Order: sequence, then structure tokens, then C-alpha cells
Amino acid sequence: MRILIVEDECALAELVADRLKRDRYTVDISNDGEEGLDNALSGIYDLIILDIMLPGIDGIEILKEIRKNNLDVKVIMLTARTELEDRLLGFGNGANDYVPKPFHTEELAARVNAQLNVGKAVTDSMTFMDLTLDYGSSSIRSEVTGETVDVNHKEFQLLEYFMNNPGRILSRDMIYDRIWGMDSEALSNNLEAYMSFIRKKLRIIGTDVSIKTVRNMGYKME
Ligand code: CA
Repeated sequence: MRILIVEDECALAELVADRLKRDRYTVDISNDGEEGLDNALSGIYDLIILDIMLPGIDGIEILKEIRKNNLDVKVIMLTARTELEDRLLGFGNGANDYVPKPFHTEELAARVNAQLNVGKAVTDSMTFMDLTLDYGSSSIRSEVTGETVDVNHKEFQLLEYFMNNPGRILSRDMIYDRIWGMDSEALSNNLEAYMSFIRKKLRIIGTDVSIKTVRNMGYKME
């Protein structure tokens, strides 16, 4: 899952990002309001950690734009201002949670997990047909053959995306936006390479699930 941190205190943003990456999230950082707004509206994030006091556009304005655009994204507001008024303003504009500064990164990570694990708290794996993706051991397993193989971080994210959208054609652009987002080092042949690794692993465990190439359109898990 992908998280955006909009925070002009670079050291704090890095600290939070490092902590969240340990929980396997993909994390991007914006250090000012304009870039934060652009990124927030990209639609590729599951959760946004939004500081209120920002250069350029402030966090409340960004939150209003996010909700105006009906984006399905959780928002946790951060601020050094602890007045009740700010708290109400944040919730009134559709913030999901509010963390006053200073905070402990463990507490923020717990709040992030609470927001993103809604409905997922009892399970540590997801399943499509006979294919199970195990979050704890970062592996895939066929429930028919019982065979297991480990997957790396990107393979895991790709499989999670496909398993959340079974039977749906996912275009290359959708996959890039979702998995690589702003990472400029993603080369055009990366996806083919990853799909080839994933297909090999699906074959190794002998699952009935496969990922088909849909000519000129993208990929589909079935
Ligand atoms: Ca700030």
C-alpha cells in the first residue's frame, strides 16, 4: 500500500517515512503545499499524512481538494497547533484522524495501521482461487498443491494489486502509477521482467491462477 507524507520539516518526514517503510508501505514525500496537492490528487495513495502548516497551500486546503475530488483515501492530519478549532476544522473537512505534534513515530505508525487495516485486522493473508498471498512470510502458496515460494517486495505489491482486481484488465499505466508512482528510475522493461518472475513463481507452486497479457491493453489475473 502507498502512503504520501506532505510535511515541510524534511527530517521529520524522513523519520516517519523510514518507520512506515518498516511496515512494508511504499512511501513518497512532498515538502511543500503545491507539490503535496498535485501528488495528493494523483489517486495513487491509500493514505496521506498531511501537515497543516505548509509553505504554499496549507494542509486544510489540500484536504478540501482531496474530498472535493472524491478520492478514496484516508487522511491523517498533523499539526503543531493543538487548538480544538484546528481539530474540528480537520475533521469537518473529512480527515480520518488527527495527530498533534510532537508525536512518537510508533504512535503515528499505529494510527496509520489502524486506518488501513480496517476490515483486514483478522487476516494476515489474501486469497484468490487456490492462490494465497501471505503477508507475514511474504510468500505465495497454492492451496491445491501446498507448494510455497517467497516473493520480493515489488512482486508482493504487484500480486496484491492483481489479487484485489481479479479478472480485471490492468493497464501498464495503472500498474506503473500504482506500484512505481513517482519513482523515476522505473524503466519501461521493469514491468515485463517482474511479470516474468511472477509467472515463473506461479508455475513453480502449480496454482491454477495465471496472469495473461491482453494485447495492447495490459494484464489480467484469472
Ligand atoms: Ca509544517
